[in-house]
Amino acid sequence: MADILIVEDDRRINELIRRTLSMTGHAGITAFTGREALSVLGKSRIDLILLDIGLPDIDGFLLMRRLSEEYGDIPVICVTARDEVPDRIKGLKGGAEDYIVKPFAMEELLARIQVVLRRFHREQTVYHIRDVEVDLAGAAVKKAGVPVELTNREYELLRIFLVNKNIALSRERLLDLAWGRDFYGDDRTVDVHIRRIRQKLGLEKDIKTIFKYGYRLEM
Ligand code: CA
Repeated sequence: MADILIVEDDRRINELIRRTLSMTGHAGITAFTGREALSVLGKSRIDLILLDIGLPDIDGFLLMRRLSEEYGDIPVICVTARDEVPDRIKGLKGGAEDYIVKPFAMEELLARIQVVLRRFHREQTVYHIRDVEVDLAGAAVKKAGVPVELTNREYELLRIFLVNKNIALSRERLLDLAWGRDFYGDDRTVDVHIRRIRQKLGLEKDIKTIFKYGYRLEM
């Protein structure tokens, strides 16, 4: 679990991100202006900052420079609108670890957060789903203390479910994430793999089928 500061003046987007983070076990702290962001940073321990570049009070790039001067050890992911795209490179050079362009899928944001947290060793690596233990750092899966052999693809799917826990993932999205966009597969490919994961780990109840859509790991 990480404490993530969301600096975004669009209240709707801010709240959506906060809720998504809390479903996946992170704590989202909201700030709607640059000034609020600085005030939060002055009093709370923050693991990662999601920074919208278009803020009402402070230019996002100036804010980023200030953050890297004062809070240089906290990684920043920039959130930019499409028309700010030419500025993105500038943003990354200004000290952001990564950037994401609005509008974005929440799974994509979560995936990027996970990568950055991992790089900064601030991510959760061990997950428990009842008697199943998954160690993402060692790619090891155990059930009731006994190692379980998963194929690479099964493991990848399980990892995707864990970092997106409690979030519904469509079959199409799972194909994209676990097999890659170039893979030509159909829904059945996903279904077959999910069935095997459920059987091997006894997660029939935890990996929920969402009618006509996909799956969700509930934990
Ligand atoms: Ca904005």
